[in-house]
Amino acid sequence: MLVVAIGGVTVATAQVTSGRPAGASAATLPNLGDGTDMTPSAERRLGDRIARELYRDPDYVDDAILTEYVQSIWQPLLAAARQRGEITPEQDETYAWEVILGRDRTVNAFALPGAYMGLHLGLIAVVTSRDELASVLAHELSHVTQRHIARMMTRQSQQAPWLLGAMILGILAAGKSPDAANAMIVGGQAVGVQSQLNFSRDMEREADRVGFGVATQAGFAPQGFVSMFAKLQQASRLNDSGNFPYLRSHPLSTERMSDMQSRIAPTGVAPVTQPGVRQNVQEADQAMMSARAGVLSNPTVDALRTWSLQAEPTLLSKTTAAQQAATLYGATLAAIKLRDHSAAQGFWLRLTEVTRNDTAAARLARLLGVELALAMDDTARASRLLSQGSAATGIPTSRAELFLAAQTRLKAATSATGAPPDSLPVRDLLAVSQTLQTWVAEHPKDAQAWQLLASIYAAQGRTLSSIRAQAEINVAQLDYPAALARFKTAQDWVRKQGTAVDHFEASIIDTRTRQVEQLVREQALER
Ligand SMILES: [Zn+2]
Repeated sequence: MLVVAIGGVTVATAQVTSGRPAGASAATLPNLGDGTDMTPSAERRLGDRIARELYRDPDYVDDAILTEYVQSIWQPLLAAARQRGEITPEQDETYAWEVILGRDRTVNAFALPGAYMGLHLGLIAVVTSRDELASVLAHELSHVTQRHIARMMTRQSQQAPWLLGAMILGILAAGKSPDAANAMIVGGQAVGVQSQLNFSRDMEREADRVGFGVATQAGFAPQGFVSMFAKLQQASRLNDSGNFPYLRSHPLSTERMSDMQSRIAPTGVAPVTQPGVRQNVQEADQAMMSARAGVLSNPTVDALRTWSLQAEPTLLSKTTAAQQAATLYGATLAAIKLRDHSAAQGFWLRLTEVTRNDTAAARLARLLGVELALAMDDTARASRLLSQGSAATGIPTSRAELFLAAQTRLKAATSATGAPPDSLPVRDLLAVSQTLQTWVAEHPKDAQAWQLLASIYAAQGRTLSSIRAQAEINVAQLDYPAALARFKTAQDWVRKQGTAVDHFEASIIDTRTRQVEQLVREQALER
């Protein structure tokens, strides 16, 4: 699918498949490309335009811990797609290949032009294995690599790019918050637009086929496709499509189901299980990430309180080890959100107990402990928990740990305002800001890293660096006019300060101002 799409059959199937007989048999599994599609770079520009709006959306979320989990599935899929030649060198070079998380609690995932992937936390919350999430992402990835999106956009090529972008954003907005009255009105209007932006059945089948090859090559269990289908089917029986927009764009035809079954067990015999091959079972760390997505996507007081009810010991003892870890993780995080720190502490201690012998789950529990300590303003405890993971070096080992370390040291330093420059909080803050600088040098599009740097620079009294970091946040989120305005503010600040400025920083700002001016001009030409 592109965005949500109502009904599986599209009005324009015949146009898409022109050049070969309509309704070509499934057995031939045709490649649908015809060489007249929107170019990858035009598609990327359209995707950038849409992504820029999504980054501004209040529902956009960059949760370092969930992002790490999603990337642990997404990156192997990309690697497998490259190996299989599904991603061509031109696509690899031109497209973004980025997953954008939305806080929305509905179950949805969608591929956007230019290989931006939208993924709702609601979908992360309902999957019960990495393999299921991999099956959805691999399917969406294949809509991009098979150029289905380009073809769809080509069909709409009479539309101006800004209008196309607006149409897609309108459908995305309509697919959210099914209980909101105005969304239903917008939704009604969106149906017409949507039918123009639907993928054809052939495209869906092709995305299933190619996605299956990519996911299994990446080492994910084929059964993930089947259990994900079963999950969607159950929701459709319960008529729950309001919470499952993904169902509207991906109706489960018996054809799709049987195609998938035949891929998994062509001889009708259950697949042989081999040691070292994934089994599509729920693991504690995966279940904990679903719980995190569930809490973050549904932060109403009632929903948050439900977590603690589920963590009641007699209820909990009836569930699997993975589910116990997930429930206690969710209950801890929900209690943090409710600012009930003593309840959170109680759940967290039980969580550390049940995850003790599982390295991945224990690490996630430890990082949640850091969040709890930060919520309680206990920076000493947060540092202690962080240092348990980075062993002797004291250097954070992942993006999630780096960001938590930065928050911890920023909090410690600001509560020790006026401390002498050689004091521990000041030196710790300097050290973590240097690590972050190295990080953004390697990952210049990491807006959250720039955000942390901006706050740290401000705390260090480095105003000019702080303004520059804020401008880089805008650049990372593709909002070049806002970035330019900040760079100009920085230049004005330099002029007012006269000779007492950091000349190195000032010259970086001049260079970046010129570069961003160029980007603003390019963006203006696309209109
Ligand atoms: Zn699809």
